[in-house]
Amino acid sequence: MWKGIVEDGFWQSEIWDRKKDGTLYAAFQSIVAVRDKENKIVNYIAISHDITEMKNREKTIQQLAFYDFLTKLPNRKLFEQEVESFIKSSHYSNKTFAMLFLDLDNFKWVNDSLGHRFGDKVLVEVSKKISSAISQDCIAARLGGDEFVILAPYEKSLSISQLASKIIEDVRVPLVVEGKEINVGWSIGISLFPENATSYTLLMQNADTAMYAAKAKGKNNFKFFADEMNKSAKERLLIDTRLRYATSSAAFTLNYQPKYSCIEKQIKGLEALIRWQDPVLGFVPPDKFIPIAEESGYIYDIGLWVIKEALRALKVIHSIDASLTMAINVSGKQLENSDFYEDVVAIVRESAIATEKIEFEITETAIMENIQSVVPILQKIKEFGIKISIDDFGTGYSSMAYLKKLPLDSLKIDRAFIMDLEKDEEDRAIVQAILALSNALNLTTIAEGVEKIEHKEILEEMGCNIYQGYLYSKPLDLNALLEFMS
Ligand code: C2E
Ligand code: CA
Ligand code: CA
Repeated sequence: MWKGIVEDGFWQSEIWDRKKDGTLYAAFQSIVAVRDKENKIVNYIAISHDITEMKNREKTIQQLAFYDFLTKLPNRKLFEQEVESFIKSSHYSNKTFAMLFLDLDNFKWVNDSLGHRFGDKVLVEVSKKISSAISQDCIAARLGGDEFVILAPYEKSLSISQLASKIIEDVRVPLVVEGKEINVGWSIGISLFPENATSYTLLMQNADTAMYAAKAKGKNNFKFFADEMNKSAKERLLIDTRLRYATSSAAFTLNYQPKYSCIEKQIKGLEALIRWQDPVLGFVPPDKFIPIAEESGYIYDIGLWVIKEALRALKVIHSIDASLTMAINVSGKQLENSDFYEDVVAIVRESAIATEKIEFEITETAIMENIQSVVPILQKIKEFGIKISIDDFGTGYSSMAYLKKLPLDSLKIDRAFIMDLEKDEEDRAIVQAILALSNALNLTTIAEGVEKIEHKEILEEMGCNIYQGYLYSKPLDLNALLEFMS
């Protein structure tokens, strides 16, 4: 300052000044040196503007541009800058860090059933949990929605596992928001710098991919990125592209698997199972393409086609045995579509099949994930006369209170519990318990995936008399089924 004033006669800049009461304030100060005829400095004139307000505005703008309004955490833009500067500095310091991609499980449910305002409060609560779980050298940010990211420097990847587990554990204890206890969980994907990627974009992409893998593994989980995940992401994309062509051509067929009653010693009904033969990909099993069709929305049209085709086949099957029912798998995404009920009614009327000969199988998970919206539509379907069955039972998280409310006719015990029935005492106990529950709710119980005579014997002894599985028959195409039946 003095150098400027003495040499140039003028100086100006922003300074911190102190008021008489001692408080600091920001000022814009200009100082001019006044000289006499001999060019000697005789006076100084200083003009000072209080710029506190301007500084505050600047701060607000900064806050708005770089911080999330709701949680006050850094936003995507600031996070990206931080990561970039971390990557730059790593060139000379050999720093390593992990990128954690966090996504709340069941947040959609919270928003849908308790409202957005409540959802916002949940986001604030979980962001506090994140902030308190991470150490000072970590940076957490909110990307938007229920997605968060953390940059975590590390020396051993073990410490990153510990961090991820801690974050998951911290939100696993029920959150209390407005006096309500709610359960949410995290799915976390982790990518490492520099092992998995060396750019912000790729680190993000890989962490996101790993997060999806964590979700698929079952929620409340974390997963480190692995190269195979990219392979499976590519495969999904390819299936998605091919499905677009398949929906408009005759790529799909149905197979039918009988359900057999050990007491009546006869077929009780059939289940329609879709088959897809693609000219490029070859045979793709439904386990693989149905989830993708659900995500893309193609499942809706595919599902309607399945109903039409299964009822057309049932008409033919009824010429041999008019008592048989046809079970059709219906995914949660189909039920979510507001046209579903009307479309089903139209197809069933057109087929001229009695509604009590038709059954919809819906997985336990699909029902429980959207319980609020699913109950009314199931009720309408049930009133129309179609039977309803809860599929893959035992793999989801059913609440007894909800089970009672559902308009169910039957329950299918998941294959996972039947597979090792003859060896595994725990599985036998579970099957016994499911049977007791099913009986208490007055439902017909069907065991899936019965492959061995031992399975059948144990089930019969426990009082489960209807089964489905390779032991009696594999899924068959219509001609093979008609031959099998006669
Ligand atoms: P799901 O509904 O649980 O069907 C039973 C699956 O187990 C079928 O597999 C069937 O072929 C297989 N299976 C039957 N008995 C045995 C056995 O004894 N041992 C073994 N290892 N497997 C047995 P698939 O046909 O591959 O279908 C897989 C899943 O794809 C189905 O599971 C269902 O969730 C879904 N899916 C199939 N068709 C459709 C459809 O038309 N619509 C919808 N939304 N989903 C479908
Ligand atoms: Ca099924
Ligand atoms: Ca099943």
